[in-house]
Parts: sequence; structure tokens; C-alpha cells
Amino acid sequence: MELAASRVLTPDGFVGPAKVVVEDDRIVAIEPVPSAPDRVLAPGFVDLQVNGVDDQDCASSRADWDRLEQLQLATGVTTWCPTLVTAPLDDLRARVDRVPPRDTIAGIHLEGPFLGGRPGAHPPELLRPIDRDWLDALPESVRIITIAPELDGAVDATRALTARGVTVSLGHSAATLDQVRACVDAGASMVTHLFNGMPTLHHRDPGIVGAALTDDRLVAGIIADLVHVHATAISVAFRAKAHRMALVTDAVAWRAARIGRIEIAHDGTAPRLPDGTLAGSSLTMDLAVRNVVHEAGVPLPLALEAASTTPATVIGLRDRGRLVVGARADLVALDPDALTVAAVWSGGREVA
Ligand code: ZN
Repeated sequence: MELAASRVLTPDGFVGPAKVVVEDDRIVAIEPVPSAPDRVLAPGFVDLQVNGVDDQDCASSRADWDRLEQLQLATGVTTWCPTLVTAPLDDLRARVDRVPPRDTIAGIHLEGPFLGGRPGAHPPELLRPIDRDWLDALPESVRIITIAPELDGAVDATRALTARGVTVSLGHSAATLDQVRACVDAGASMVTHLFNGMPTLHHRDPGIVGAALTDDRLVAGIIADLVHVHATAISVAFRAKAHRMALVTDAVAWRAARIGRIEIAHDGTAPRLPDGTLAGSSLTMDLAVRNVVHEAGVPLPLALEAASTTPATVIGLRDRGRLVVGARADLVALDPDALTVAAVWSGGREVA
């Protein structure tokens, strides 16, 4: 199969017109061609934080994983991390064990219950001290764990988790800069939804936002729905971090009236708790890309990198998130101006 486009995003930037040659599920060549359809070919998107989509909740025993996958693929997401939020530990473990292995699922993101001073929509009564026995017993399907650096044992837990290949992301936290740095020194490599679930940047107490914006060891996830974060703050983050940004949707099953025991309603901007607290988003990754380009002024190659290469890299995926020979043939074709999804291929198969 050959996929041609006027612009093809490679790790060296756009090339084109060019064609991507696919055999079976792999990219075998990227070559110049005299002419090609006016479209952008980019690596399939990688979303590290997806609680649910539409009316499908990843935590539910009734989740329809075929439908979840199809909804993801339709928005250009070819790899994703189902995200399970704070719950009693036994319930949470049961939810972990229910997530099926799939080619499109890179692993589970656990967000909670080991969170700190900014729980957001996480029920505060369910937050817990770090439980190393529980963490040590988790299966390999868990790929990311969000923890708060201010908890007792956060540094040791970070060291143990990263040693077994789990990406430790710091978030829902009111930690000091020193507490954050101690976890980063121990191997933490990501910040969960920068600006949300953390105090704002204070010039005498820079905290987790200050660390995220200045420490190149950290990839910053960001929810670019223009509700969670203002376009100007998104621009600040991209100017500070450039190649260390990861767009996440933090999408939830916003068409459902409740997620587990948590009651939510969509107010036209985002899903919220009855008191107005933001409870995830109804964002899709393709819209996130359009928002950061069209509203935050981020250059398209950087936006696409934040939607694919950087999130793949931070969880250790080497064969995805980049258009190179040998990589898995996960691609998205976008309209060159509107940046809407025109076609999607997963493992060399056209799926949307
Ligand atoms: Zn969160």
C-alpha cells in the first residue's frame, strides 16, 4: 500500500510531496513523489489519558471496548491509555483486570487514589496514602501512574515504579518545587494535565507548574479544550516546553449522567460535578490539535508531535508515534487547512 500526501510529517519535519509505503503493518519506505493529494500525513495520535468517550466509561463492567476503540480511531487516535480514576483499591484493581489487551491500547493510566492537595473531581474521602504492596502487585498492563509528590513514600514509589517500566506522572498536587524535584530525580517523567489539579505558578513558590515549565526531564500533559486551560496559557506551555508537550483529552463518558458513583452534567463547555468542578472533558484529540494550532498559535509540526511522538516516547513506545521506516503503520490524514481527520490507518489497515 502507498499513501501519498503533499506534506508528510517525519522526525525531521515536513517532507513532500511524498509517499509512505506500507507492507503488512509496517512502514517500509518514505519517498518523494512528483505530486500528491493536498493533505497532511502524520503519525496516528497517542492519547495517554482517556477515562471514557461519548457514553462509554472505561471503568464500567459494561464498557464496549470495540465501540471505544472505533470512537478513538475516528478521531485519529491509534494508541491510547484507558484511564482509571480514584476508587477503593479492590474496585480499582478489578477495573484494571477488566481492560482487555488490544493492539491500540498501550496500557492503563491509573490516576489516583494516591493524590494530594488538589484532588479536583476525585472524591477526597477515597484518596489514600501510598500503598506499596498494592502498587507492587499491579500487572504489567499498567503503564502510567499519576501520584502526588507530597505524599509520604512518593520518592521511593517513583523509583520502584520507574524501575519496572511504569511512567510516573505527577499531578493533583500542591507539592513544593523541592518535593517535585525529588520525584523527578527518582524517575518521574511526566506531569498530569499541566495547570489543572495544581496551584497556579507563584513567583516565590513555583511548585509543580514551575517545575513542569522549566525541567526538560518532564513531559507536560495538557487538556487543550480551551475550557481547562486558556489558549494563552497553552501558548506559554508550548513556548517553554516545545518538544516536551503531550496533548491529552482527559475525555470522559460525558453523555452518561454518571460515571461510577460520580454524578456529572455537561454544561455546554465541559462535563462538571454538580458544584461546577470540571470532571474531565468532552475533547477529542483532533480538536485538541486544531485548538492549539488555530487558537494558541502553535506551529502544526509541534502540535502533531505533541499528539503523537512525545506521548509515545514518554511511555517507552519506540515503534509508534513517528513516521519512520520500521514503525507500525499508524497514520492519520488531515485536511491541510481545517485539520479535520480525512482518513486513519491502524497497523496498515484503513479504519476510518
Ligand atoms: Zn485529573
